[in-house]
Amino acid sequence: MKHFPIFLAMEGQKLVLSGGGDAALAKLRLLLKTEARIEVFTADPAPEIVTWAGEDRLDLTARALQPGDVAGAVLFYAADEDAREDARTSAIARAEGALVNIVDNLADSQFITPAIVDRDPVTVAIGTEGAAPVLARAIKRDLEERLPVTLGALTRIGKRFRRAAEGLPFGRKRRDFWADYYFTTGPRALAEDGPQGAEEALNTLLDTHLNAAPRAGHVALVGAGPGDPELLTLKARRALDEADVIIHDRLIAPEILELARREATLIDVGKEGFGPSTDQTRIAALMIRHARTGAQIVRLKSGDPAIYGRLDEELTALDAAGVGWSIIPGLTAASAAAASIGQSLTQRGRNSSLRILTGHDTKGFAEQDWAALARPGTAAAIYMAKRGARFLQGRLLMHGASPQTPVTIVENASRADQTVLQSCLATLAADLDRAEMSGPAILLYGLAPRAALAEIPQVPEAAHGP
Ligand code: SAH
Repeated sequence: MKHFPIFLAMEGQKLVLSGGGDAALAKLRLLLKTEARIEVFTADPAPEIVTWAGEDRLDLTARALQPGDVAGAVLFYAADEDAREDARTSAIARAEGALVNIVDNLADSQFITPAIVDRDPVTVAIGTEGAAPVLARAIKRDLEERLPVTLGALTRIGKRFRRAAEGLPFGRKRRDFWADYYFTTGPRALAEDGPQGAEEALNTLLDTHLNAAPRAGHVALVGAGPGDPELLTLKARRALDEADVIIHDRLIAPEILELARREATLIDVGKEGFGPSTDQTRIAALMIRHARTGAQIVRLKSGDPAIYGRLDEELTALDAAGVGWSIIPGLTAASAAAASIGQSLTQRGRNSSLRILTGHDTKGFAEQDWAALARPGTAAAIYMAKRGARFLQGRLLMHGASPQTPVTIVENASRADQTVLQSCLATLAADLDRAEMSGPAILLYGLAPRAALAEIPQVPEAAHGP
């Protein structure tokens, strides 16, 4: 971060601007929103500046800036749109102790003005360190659309209520009250009955929340999808937004955890595939302990929680403890892997069913109905199969599967570091050894990448990238 965003207290502060043309006008329109004392120096002021001076909104001195003019100012804008004049005025300002911004001169500026979304007292500042003004404008437009214009009014009313709301215990209860006000009750009351109505609604709402029974703890078992944060469901996102405690597996991408509330407690119960069962006991105990404090808990699992997610064990433990739960499904690794190779998981005339298997389970390499799997046209998504690949290969060949059966391994499906290894049953184990994959990988048995369909059978080789 080359520029650190801060919000500067401007009330009663002196702010100086040199210039009287378009650049000066653009900056002044923004600066006039603040409570600073604005002094403008220019021999040639635009008519608007003269008007603003007449309305006492700023002080205008109709001459070029001189030494001494910036004394005591916190900020200075050089807006003469003339490199030499800007250099002269900014040297004065710097000597007199103000932070300097030179319009359209990032390199010599000590601070830059962000794009601003103004819902005073809510202000959003958007900066790209000068790298992409177009992007800043697009983000601003997006936010302008998203944030209701009444947000400022709601916030001002809410601010007067902060004291009264302290009657609610800090944390979840107080947060629920404010969330209800800002996102549900407040906007409705403001639209229907104006500011007075919104204020009254706040009173009633506070009473309701003060008298409400304490919320029971709850566990949402949430599928985080294969890794790409954009593949989270809207429900999963909302659950992450609201969680007090997030208990997650090792496979959850950091970008997804980033979406949690800042105040949420994150607990990594990192276990890979089928971990020892004592882990399960510990995880259940953790969930139950937090739920008893009334916490909203997200138990975040990679992919879909109902696929190799040890969901039932956790549900049984929660039921036994009388803790309420819900399940939010997620996108499973097989779906992401199939998408990455342009394949569908079922196809008319090829495979009307898809098997979901695991390469190994708590007891070691998993036994399957090998004869059925060996039949031509069978397709399977095999989870946790890297270690068991040689075993799988041996069993399938022994049961008569064609050595040319396509097998595609997708590592880190949907993530930036996704790799695709195209192989076939005959060379599967050797290909995997050579590829030295370290990320989570899923094996698509009977499926080849779409582009390669016409060439099968062929000598497999590692293909990297999506
Ligand atoms: N519930 C998860 C599976 C958990 S078991 C789901 O529905 O996807 C863990 C196994 O899932 C890993 O060993 C790997 O086989 C697979 N897996 C999970 N995320 C993956 C990803 N991004 N890419 C490839 N395989 C993945």
